[in-house]
Amino acid sequence: MDIVHNTPDVMIGGGRKHFEARKDSLNMSDSLRAKGYDVVYTLEDAINSPSKYLAAFCAEDKLPTVVDGRGDFLPRAVDLAIKKLKKEKNGFFLMVEGSQIDMRCHSNDMVGEIGEVLDFDDAVAVALEFARKDKHTLVVITADHETGGLAILQKGAYEGAEKFRHKFTTTGHTGVPVPIYAYGPGSQNYEGLMQNSDHKAIMARLMGLK
Ligand SMILES: [Zn+2]
Repeated sequence: MDIVHNTPDVMIGGGRKHFEARKDSLNMSDSLRAKGYDVVYTLEDAINSPSKYLAAFCAEDKLPTVVDGRGDFLPRAVDLAIKKLKKEKNGFFLMVEGSQIDMRCHSNDMVGEIGEVLDFDDAVAVALEFARKDKHTLVVITADHETGGLAILQKGAYEGAEKFRHKFTTTGHTGVPVPIYAYGPGSQNYEGLMQNSDHKAIMARLMGLK
């Protein structure tokens, strides 16, 4: 419900039922429309929408995984969001989540996870391509935690005697440190070992927020 009150200009993903088939029988899509949003249900309609305020709920619940046919939805959604938001003369903040990396790791699904990580990598490439040209955009890439405790037991090929071997050590979240990568102005604020709770203060400072 918070997303309807905090109103980001652009939101793209799945989860239609959480807005329209709710236990409290409120229709959040109608609330968004009343606030001037174009609410659409496919990425194509989102791409064709002339509206500054856009909500695209492109699946009833979750979008499919990459290996189950999601295609390049995430990189295209990032591209669309940047195209909309870059018109703001005071800049913009865009949060992108490769959310199904976590789900595939909970399921200890190595093939599914690789698909999600490669897809996320493609989405990062879209953001970096924009940032390289723009020169005023900071791109920060990280995770809120590791999932699955993936251990690489032996590096190697996909097939044959020297086969790559791996093992998941849990179906839950772990305390393994996660990397943080930063590109662009302000990226020097991200180095060494950091507490994940430091992110908010750094981001707020860089954005000039109190
Ligand atoms: Zn999780």
